[in-house]
Amino acid sequence: MTDIPTNLAPYAADERESLGRQHLEPSHAYRSEYHRDRDRIIHSTAFRRLVYKTQVFVNHEGDMFRTRLTHSLEVAQIARTAAGILNINEPLVEAICLAHDLGHTPFGHAGQDALNACMRDYGGFEHNFQSLRVVDLLEERYAEFPGLNLMFETREGILKHCSARNARELGDLGMRFLGRSQPSLEAQLANLADEIAYNNHDIDDGVRAGLLDEAELCELELFGRQYREVTARYPDISGRRRMHEIIRRMINYVVTDLVEHSAGMIAAAGPDSVAAVRAQAGPLIGYSEEVRQESRDLKRYLQKNLYQHYRVLRMTNKAAKVIRDLFTAFMEDQRLMPPEHSLKAAAAMDSDGEAAKARIVADYVAGMTDRYAILEHQRLFEPSERT
Ligand code: MG
Repeated sequence: MTDIPTNLAPYAADERESLGRQHLEPSHAYRSEYHRDRDRIIHSTAFRRLVYKTQVFVNHEGDMFRTRLTHSLEVAQIARTAAGILNINEPLVEAICLAHDLGHTPFGHAGQDALNACMRDYGGFEHNFQSLRVVDLLEERYAEFPGLNLMFETREGILKHCSARNARELGDLGMRFLGRSQPSLEAQLANLADEIAYNNHDIDDGVRAGLLDEAELCELELFGRQYREVTARYPDISGRRRMHEIIRRMINYVVTDLVEHSAGMIAAAGPDSVAAVRAQAGPLIGYSEEVRQESRDLKRYLQKNLYQHYRVLRMTNKAAKVIRDLFTAFMEDQRLMPPEHSLKAAAAMDSDGEAAKARIVADYVAGMTDRYAILEHQRLFEPSERT
């Protein structure tokens, strides 16, 4: 094996001690196992669809906003930098980050909430669990197995949250949600890199969309601190460059805090293996108390002022209706779906009943991009539209 990272700390995930793949495969002559996982994710259909899935703004609202694809790339970039400094497994971190949102429905959280409500009587819908379902089952790329057959540690990182019921069904992978053990440091890092990425890029997108106000943002310590530094140093800078300079510095500030605080926690706990990381009472990747509070304030601010902004809510309200209409129509008559889905739904209904059929419908709806969902809605409900 030629490209296993060579400077891994003893607490980093190491493929030689991995719990491996669900279906046994020979190793590759040149690529490490986590590199192969990353490559499989990038070549997947679900990954390509992320470009037309909403992060906060629906794709057709503008070309400059983040999509789920660019969000995932930003998450991976942040996490790889931190992984390199902490000497943990960078290819694994990258694979987790690139895959973490594969299960997202169209229209972001509004879509997920609507689909979850539709699925209430059939086991619910949770995008994290769906990401795992995509890589374990739904991708059709290999002759010998369903899904992408990823390594245990990659799948563990993708599954950030999980209900006890789903955890019990998952066997080994669900154990930590029942036994309250920790995931690998790579999984812990990917989780926080996700939050760092969206906290920062949502400010950028929110200001660009005219929904957030710079003066108000200055009341937040994370933003205000960098704002004061940037305006003192570059008093004549244009608004857009000022915003980018502030956000660039905010990311650096938070990531530096994360790396330094995590290094301190790791040193204090002294885990000598991944098993020791898993046995800890709490995570070893985290911010200092100060930055944790500041991040929480920023999150609350975005929740109130961006995600609940009336213009965002109007769009998400429409989006939720599209999801509900599609789900209801396909449940009432599965033959309205393209044959590859309707045949699966009919077979599921015959063998396992209504809930199994609903899961196939949810898979189809969740896999849609924003624009495909809108188009499919028109084709089903607009008499003048071609079917
Ligand atoms: Mg994300």
